[in-house]
Amino acid sequence: MNDKERDDPLAGAGLDTLAIRAGQHRTQEGEHAEAIFPTSSYVFASAAEAAARFSGDEPGNVYSRYTNPTVRTFEERIAALEGAEKAVATASGMSAILSLAMAQLKAGDHLICSRDVFGTTVNLFAKHLSKFGVETTFVPLSEPAAWREALRPETKLLFLETPSNPLSEVADLRALADLAHENGARLAVDNCFCTPALQRPFEFGADFVVHSATKYLDGQGRCLGGVVLGDAEPMQDVLTFLRTAGPTMSPFNAWVFIKGLETLRLRMEAHSTNALALARWLREQPAVESVFYGGLPDHPGHDLAARQQRAFGGVLSFRVKGGRESAWRVIDSTRLLSLTANLGDVKTTIVHPATTTHGRLSDEEKASAGITENLIRVAVGLEDIADIQADLARGLDSL
Ligand SMILES: *Cc1c(COP(=O)(O)O)cnc(C)c1O
Repeated sequence: MNDKERDDPLAGAGLDTLAIRAGQHRTQEGEHAEAIFPTSSYVFASAAEAAARFSGDEPGNVYSRYTNPTVRTFEERIAALEGAEKAVATASGMSAILSLAMAQLKAGDHLICSRDVFGTTVNLFAKHLSKFGVETTFVPLSEPAAWREALRPETKLLFLETPSNPLSEVADLRALADLAHENGARLAVDNCFCTPALQRPFEFGADFVVHSATKYLDGQGRCLGGVVLGDAEPMQDVLTFLRTAGPTMSPFNAWVFIKGLETLRLRMEAHSTNALALARWLREQPAVESVFYGGLPDHPGHDLAARQQRAFGGVLSFRVKGGRESAWRVIDSTRLLSLTANLGDVKTTIVHPATTTHGRLSDEEKASAGITENLIRVAVGLEDIADIQADLARGLDSL
């Protein structure tokens, strides 16, 4: 080890430096960009070394379901950005949430989850975990009293996304972390919409953070991936589950995410700037009834979001005058925007939540969650804002 390595250049480094430098372990080839290791297994120098690696007496790679150097670089980099002791990468966002649940919960345990989480997360908890004796109560994200009322002696985990999709409701992370801890439970935050560039839930007392890396961590819609983060000790169970069940991240995908992280803060700021501009413009349009975006000062979650987040992110939604027909007309009139339920991409996407992402909800559930037929969600990308506005104006002006 030389002097340069001994005084760790990343000690106390800022977010951008960590995003660009953390976790790289240069090989003897001296490569400047991070190397990809597409290998399923590793060779040992001797039978004794193989035995020591298998028993765990000696650290090192054994098999890529356990460890892979490219995946490790991604894990170390995202852990540095979130301020976590340990990160475990997974094949997708859903396998991150599954791995956390399988590691933390057992039959008889109770889970409280915010109502507006990603639809597949609702299905995972309500339809699959329930088969193994784990019961879930869904509560409104921004009503702390509802979380308190839902608590039971057997509650082990509180799970949420903030801001919510698609209405940008905001949870008080500190209050919910305290509530969890007072009752012997832990708080897990799906930080997909903000990323650590805008919000670092561990600073507010969260115990776990999960991501769908598929979204903003990649940033260009190329790969599926996920990650769970937390303290080393509880994360050991997540790692054990992952190694046994096998939803590991591919090294190719890890490399794409490593590169995505390098521009994360710049992109998140640009997404936020474009989204705020679009929210303000939408408000001026006669065919728009209301706009939901935390960056608007009169949004009910604005003050809390301003305390917890560095900016307000790229996702907004709005109601047009009329019903489903009006909403569909605006969507179908776009020529530039991509009609897809995905988000977290440099390309702007547009979707009708009531008939796609939230289509599984009953009419009553939709009504109580505010998912009306005239609601449109836009995940604002990085095209010129004037072009995004012009594309939406075509439909809006025809209403
Ligand atoms: C997309 C998404 C997920 C699921 O991630 P996949 O990578 O698609 O498995 C989980 N949570 C949120 C908030 C998401 O947007």
